Amino acid sequence: MMQYRWLHGLIDLLFPPRCVACGRLGSYFCRRCQAQAKLVDEQICVRCGQPTTVRCTCIHCRQSPPDPLRGIRGAVFYGDPVSFAIHGLKYRGLTRLAVPLADYLHFYLLNHPLPFDLLVPVPLHAQRLAARGYNQSTLLANELGKRQGIPVATDVIYRTRHTKPQVQLNRQQRHENMRQAFAPRQIGRLQGERVLLIDDVCTTGATLRACAVALHRAGAGEIWALTVARAQPPPEPEPWQAGLSAADLFVAWDIRQSNPSPGEVS
Ligand SMILES: [Zn+2]
Ligand SMILES: [Zn+2]
Repeated sequence: MMQYRWLHGLIDLLFPPRCVACGRLGSYFCRRCQAQAKLVDEQICVRCGQPTTVRCTCIHCRQSPPDPLRGIRGAVFYGDPVSFAIHGLKYRGLTRLAVPLADYLHFYLLNHPLPFDLLVPVPLHAQRLAARGYNQSTLLANELGKRQGIPVATDVIYRTRHTKPQVQLNRQQRHENMRQAFAPRQIGRLQGERVLLIDDVCTTGATLRACAVALHRAGAGEIWALTVARAQPPPEPEPWQAGLSAADLFVAWDIRQSNPSPGEVS
């Protein structure tokens, strides 16, 4: 990117950058907006990284089978103004936003070190990569790699197929949607190297878990994931929204009638 520095300077002169969040002139994400992000603290599930009232293993993680991903961490909570910067990086071609967004990743690791020898960005499907022209997770991993002095590998795993947009899906559906969406380029190639997976946002962790399965097949040792932002997963659907039959609903209603919860006793 060194050879493009003069070009960036010229573009900045002709079209001065504005902060994507507040519109202030000078940079694509100003210091003031960058400092407004809410940092994720210690009160999280140690496995999935979701915020909890105390540091613990949450009920979802206690109920799910073991998988190769040791833990997911997010640097800041998803919300304004960080969401503007992530949107700009992902959908508006503002690739230089990877620099201030990688600051969050670097700062997180300074305060909460994780064990890794290699950074691996979550891959995009080849068609999406061709359409967008870049993978935002690779840009973030490259920036972080420079600061941490750690190599970045973009050819260890790949996306095997297009997946449905996950916005409308619940936790279970997201895991189904992502199953076998990634594969290793070469089985056993990593020979026990410890990997830190990098992505922009984590919601339920379905994408990161699917990547970890492929990395495990590629021979990775310990696998952790770090994302810029941690988003709240959508609320789990009520039974009548989850495709239960009328008979299932009657059984659920019948059980509830015979075992009312404390708040339901009038
Ligand atoms: Zn700003
Ligand atoms: Zn958890």
